[in-house]
Amino acid sequence: MQPVQCAEGIYVLRIGHRAWRDKRVTTHVALSSMALGASGIFLSGEEDPNLVQSVTRARDRWAPHFSVEYSRSWREVVGRARSMGCAVVHLTMYGVELRFLLDGLRALVGTRGILVIVGAEKVPREVYELADLNVAVTHLPHSEVAALAVFLHDLLGYGGSAARGSSILPQLRGKLSLPGAPRPPGSSGRSS
Ligand code: SAM
Repeated sequence: MQPVQCAEGIYVLRIGHRAWRDKRVTTHVALSSMALGASGIFLSGEEDPNLVQSVTRARDRWAPHFSVEYSRSWREVVGRARSMGCAVVHLTMYGVELRFLLDGLRALVGTRGILVIVGAEKVPREVYELADLNVAVTHLPHSEVAALAVFLHDLLGYGGSAARGSSILPQLRGKLSLPGAPRPPGSSGRSS
């Protein structure tokens, strides 16, 4: 089992995944984490090998440095993160608004590292109590994908975006990628 390496950066912990209902949203949580500069994701809740496989495949293709791990127990992941010195942040509309905490959170990213928790189903009260910080992205209920995207972008900025491994040639008009470009191991090599 990989250790949580929180010396710096941001790791995401997705809790409460329900295989029958959350496959798409949890995939989007993982892809957004990867694209917006998180160092890795822990998937927790119901075991869902197809989900882990598809996120790992995307990781292999687009962001080989990004870690992907399933753990049945989110408490175990939080315990490991704590033992590595990470700050534990929980995204919830009941928290303190992100804009008031940005300076402190940015300092944590560069020193201790952050484990940021996002929920799916009703989040156990225990999570609100054990988090070092409950952080709100507005006080209205919305989506874990949106909350996480704002959180990562506000803390990491454009520099956090994962461009490594991409064979895309940015175009203002049209669509172009390098068909023959070297790709990370595990990629299909297809350009679509
Ligand atoms: N029904 C669940 C509950 O009562 O706890 C929340 C479901 S919500 C769709 C899923 C997740 O999105 C939450 O656990 C939280 O992590 C995130 N989220 C939703 N709205 C948020 C907000 N305004 N600020 C921060 N995170 C939010």
